[in-house]
Amino acid sequence: ATDSLHAGSVPAARAPFDINLVRRDFPILQERVNGKQLVWLDNAATTHKPQSVIDRLAYFYAHENSNIHRAAHELAARATDAYEGAREKVRGFLNARSANECVFVRGATEAINLVAQSWGRANIGRDDEIIVSHLEHHANIVPWQMLCAEKGARLRVIPVDDDGQLQLEEYAKLLGPKTRLVAFTQISNALGTVTPARQIIEMAHSAGAKVLLDGAQSVSHLRADVQALDCDWFVFSGHKVFAPTGIGVLYGKEALLNEMPPWQGGGNMIRDVTFESTQYHDAPGRFEAGTGNIADAVGLGAAIDYVNRIGIENIGAYEHQLLLYATHRLKEIPGLRLIGTAPDKAAVLSFVLEGYKTEEVGAALNREGIAVRSGHHCAQPILRRFGLESTVRPSLAFYNNCADVDALIAALARLKGGRS
Ligand code: PLP
Repeated sequence: ATDSLHAGSVPAARAPFDINLVRRDFPILQERVNGKQLVWLDNAATTHKPQSVIDRLAYFYAHENSNIHRAAHELAARATDAYEGAREKVRGFLNARSANECVFVRGATEAINLVAQSWGRANIGRDDEIIVSHLEHHANIVPWQMLCAEKGARLRVIPVDDDGQLQLEEYAKLLGPKTRLVAFTQISNALGTVTPARQIIEMAHSAGAKVLLDGAQSVSHLRADVQALDCDWFVFSGHKVFAPTGIGVLYGKEALLNEMPPWQGGGNMIRDVTFESTQYHDAPGRFEAGTGNIADAVGLGAAIDYVNRIGIENIGAYEHQLLLYATHRLKEIPGLRLIGTAPDKAAVLSFVLEGYKTEEVGAALNREGIAVRSGHHCAQPILRRFGLESTVRPSLAFYNNCADVDALIAALARLKGGRS
């Protein structure tokens, strides 16, 4: 990055790390798409993998591959060490008290379904209330809706204001003796709003409710400190934090996890089985039935090492500057309306362009090698709150730079120029 002034008064983002070296760590950023250098601005959907993660997966399969925990041989010991070592890295990354609090799952969606099916079915009854926010991804709506339908419970929704911020005074009114759970996101995938998580959690606990925090969008931008946040559960997907797909984490407070009934039965999760009865392991084993995604868990450990080397605070600070730069530049495009204008925002720029369908904008950008998402982003309720079915959504990671933003702006200007 340079420190020259771009676009009037907004300085170009300056990285507190070597952005060019970082970009070289991600081989896919060299890819050419439709004859152009790839510009990846779809990080809220998934992130790319540094070479160290790709190498770690290859090393696992070349030197360590085995099933874990149950064999007498050397490779089982290597694979078990690698897998449990990755769990310890997750513990450190989340600042959990114990690695036992970190359950490997497929991703955020599976983690939320696990809590709904296990804790939810055991603890939610008729007329109980579950609170979610208007910002939620479908993954943090539908599992609770299914639970409410089964149990005769009620889903209530924290509204947002016109900037896309949660209305805490309305939230306070929703909390009451019937509230059993508050489940909400730390960063909105559709608007980028950062929610005041600590405050929301404290208010829920004062009302006697448990809290599930959806960290799918936040883990790659903010430090996730589950002890400071004091959430009861925290969920995230590896693929959104530079790790492979098919691996994610459910964090839960240890005593709470051990009170929760298992939701899937099978090998690994048991202490003892007879035809009459079965005793289950404590967490995390009780929630890891069957052979898990061993290699990708190890890959997640390597991704956490990578993020720690750059420093999540450095990442957040750089992305904040890049977001300001991108916001400022997008405002230069006539007829462009940004959706989601909360002062506390991260990494996401949702917009609509007057006179153009969102698919049309997405396709035009793709022709220039620029990857964004256009659609409802699995968050239909929040888009409808703004009277929309779809937006165009560029989203940033720390390997993006001002040149990526400039390419986006130039392509949008060409699209508009082509029609005038
Ligand atoms: N929650 C949020 C806020 C998300 O953005 C996403 C994915 O986009 C999810 C949950 C679901 O994540 P996954 O599809 O990896 O399970």
